[in-house]
Amino acid sequence: MRSKKVASYTQHAMFGSDTTIDTRKVITHQSVKRDRILTWSFGGGTQTIAIALLVYLDRLPKPDLTIFCDTGREGTETWEYNHKYVEPLLASIGITIEIASHDLATVDLYGHNGDLLLPAFTETGKFPTYCSDEWKKKVFRRYVRSKGIESCITWLGMSTDEVDRIKPSDVQWQEYQWPLAFNVPMSRTECRQFILNQGLPDPPKSSCWCCPHRLNGQWLRLKTHYPQDFQKAVEHDRLIRERDRVHAVYLHKSAQPLEDVDFSQPEAPVLFGEENSGCQSGFCFV
Ligand code: SF4
Repeated sequence: MRSKKVASYTQHAMFGSDTTIDTRKVITHQSVKRDRILTWSFGGGTQTIAIALLVYLDRLPKPDLTIFCDTGREGTETWEYNHKYVEPLLASIGITIEIASHDLATVDLYGHNGDLLLPAFTETGKFPTYCSDEWKKKVFRRYVRSKGIESCITWLGMSTDEVDRIKPSDVQWQEYQWPLAFNVPMSRTECRQFILNQGLPDPPKSSCWCCPHRLNGQWLRLKTHYPQDFQKAVEHDRLIRERDRVHAVYLHKSAQPLEDVDFSQPEAPVLFGEENSGCQSGFCFV
């Protein structure tokens, strides 16, 4: 088992203590079922970074293929963090993150039937989340198939607090596994603490800059620290209203144009992870 400090692989990491994972809960990777090619859906967020550290520390096996599905809308913060900290860490153990391009999606903002794919808000409700399936799940599968792989296991990053998002695969050739839910059980909070204890900075939330599954604090962070991403979200928000002749659609749940929203306004408390509960694909926010 590797014991080298993760922080030594990063430029600006704060030095922390070794992991506080409860080793009684850890099932060693010999027990992880692996009878086919092991693929990993690299989401770029907290749970993904925790998995990267577990692989680095030899507490999970090395995947054969690590794939990030680039929607073309991923937040700059996620890219920055992963370029700086996670890619070098994985590279040091021979893992390259492969990028599945958005060109592999057959639809962009609208489906073949003309429906908006984003889970946008109307004045009376919210659309279903179709984008995650089209931009992440299907793109992942097309990328894997393009490598000539006919059957695989795929890791998804849901943690123990997100078991309501766990669903088996809907295709026979791909089996899903959730290492943070079952093999090394950790909640999102525990993942974050583990990452900090390993000497890495606070991980970002991984999502598209236009994602409506976002709380006010997250919008405010985007607007304050990543104004270019926020401006692109404002433009998307306008675009979907211009294109929708039936509903007035909005990226923000207040059903106001994004540039008019006061993100400092308190919102009804949500259970942790509840902001993601409308997305069941398992390929986002991890
Ligand atoms: S992060 Fe949000 S907008 Fe992006 S694909 Fe996932 S659900 Fe859709």
